[in-house]
Amino acid sequence: MNKELVKLILFGIFYKAFPKEIFLNSEILSIDMTEVKNQLCSMCGKKTMELREEEREVPFFGKVYIFSVTCTSCKYHKADVEVTDKNEPCKYTLEIDGEEDMKIRVIKSSQATVKIPHVITIEPGTAGTGYISNVEGILKRVKHVIETARDSGEDKSARKKAKKLLRKLNNVIWGKEKLKLIIVDPSGNSAIVSEKAKKSKP
Ligand SMILES: [Zn+2]
Repeated sequence: MNKELVKLILFGIFYKAFPKEIFLNSEILSIDMTEVKNQLCSMCGKKTMELREEEREVPFFGKVYIFSVTCTSCKYHKADVEVTDKNEPCKYTLEIDGEEDMKIRVIKSSQATVKIPHVITIEPGTAGTGYISNVEGILKRVKHVIETARDSGEDKSARKKAKKLLRKLNNVIWGKEKLKLIIVDPSGNSAIVSEKAKKSKP
């Protein structure tokens, strides 16, 4: 098959999974990128690790650096973000109350905790990763965490609760329900880029 065609099909599959997130991130201008290939992977020992450093301009925010390591053999992946105007520890609170809010950009570093009161708190942990996304992307990630917990749980009542939370998150994504999103970052490398978001000290 034609290489370009394969690329298009693959992009189509990916695009379907996170349409808005991909679209939004492609809108964010990449200013500079450095890539180093064929590095030794500390996980599988093969020389297939790729290091990437990218500088991006996020509208109404400023420059954000994205660092990532990806191993093409064992699929190990880790990424983090750093903002230029590194602040003191920060806390952002956003009241999500409509479908429009799904597009609000979010910069989340590997040290940030994502909190949705009465739904979930996702601590960064050692596997914490950093990314640039939007509110919809964050809610989809939260959904994924709840779905994984639901599918691995034996407890009937816990599964029922997970089902209820997933329904709530879907309603929020469709603009039918409100929700509060809080991001707390001791490193100050996170942000919710919107006038609607309240910034405070954690
Ligand atoms: Zn590897």
